[in-house]
Amino acid sequence: MSAPVLDLAQDPVDLTQVLCDIESVSGHERALADAVEHALRALPHLTVARFGDAVVARTQLGRGERVVLAGHLDTVPLAAEPNLPTWYEGDLLYGRGTCDMKGGVAVQLALAARLAEPSRDLTYVFYDGEEVESERNGLGRIAREAPELLQADLAVLLEPTSARVEGGCNGTMRVDVTTHGTAAHSARAWMGENAIHAAGAVLGRLVAYETQDVEVEGLVFRESLGAVRIGGGVAGNVIPDRCTVTVNYRFAPSKTVEDAEHHLRELFTGFDVEVTDAAGGARPGLDRPMAKAFVETVGHEPGPKYGWTDVARFSEVGVPAVNYGPGDPLKAHADDEHVPVQEIRDCLRVLATWLS
Ligand SMILES: [Zn+2]
Repeated sequence: MSAPVLDLAQDPVDLTQVLCDIESVSGHERALADAVEHALRALPHLTVARFGDAVVARTQLGRGERVVLAGHLDTVPLAAEPNLPTWYEGDLLYGRGTCDMKGGVAVQLALAARLAEPSRDLTYVFYDGEEVESERNGLGRIAREAPELLQADLAVLLEPTSARVEGGCNGTMRVDVTTHGTAAHSARAWMGENAIHAAGAVLGRLVAYETQDVEVEGLVFRESLGAVRIGGGVAGNVIPDRCTVTVNYRFAPSKTVEDAEHHLRELFTGFDVEVTDAAGGARPGLDRPMAKAFVETVGHEPGPKYGWTDVARFSEVGVPAVNYGPGDPLKAHADDEHVPVQEIRDCLRVLATWLS
């Protein structure tokens, strides 16, 4: 089956609609990736590479700076009342992928076709597997197989942000804090030592903990720390000898994973602390002159991103990254997913201005 033909020169809103109507639920991105690759290969100013169902296209003009524009091709599954093909209600385009994030992908493709001579070298990354487990993430695959292709001075992920700049993201760490006691029959509880009761002290430290707001490059990142699970006890008549409180810490991108671990070990001094999962945050990179020029072109004050997003994957390879794209992030994955079409045009105009 040949790939559908994309007309990258067409109106970006029409292009968004075409992209959405090529269904690409995670794991089924092939047809869309083929169409994107095919359209990009027709542009003589781009060098194109394919990695599974991810596509990378680059200009090589020898400019002093390089910008990555990245977006994922996959969507979450359709709503129970299928929300494809797309449809219009006034100035809103409805349907799966309109917000998260084919409006952004349309902007990337429109720029690829329009900017033959950009002011900075450009790398366009289109990838699969963003809405599923981390191991399937196409951006991660590129980072493993060809990290040099992600190198840049700044990366812009065109995830929905209502066309505002959201810089960086918090890091995340999960630890198991375990208390130990001595098991005994509950009829003679005084012979034992209750590990669940001991966990009260762990919870007490969490309740007393004062969450910090941390300013990084002018953006205020709100941290959080809290218990997300608790487990202990083996039977209704046994004094438990073990209780584990799982704690999730969301920390500002000025802290490394090691800093976060050190902080938690200090907070839970006297208890067993085991790190079970960690991912560093991402600095917004807004202190760079190029990023300042971008923010000025957008014309809104930038804000921080609290959740962990793929900007952190860029951070891992040393590239600061921001999110900027059409659509209200609260409408991503929603049954009534939609995008205001004006935001698609605004994003295209801003990025084209900045990169021309
Ligand atoms: Zn997304």
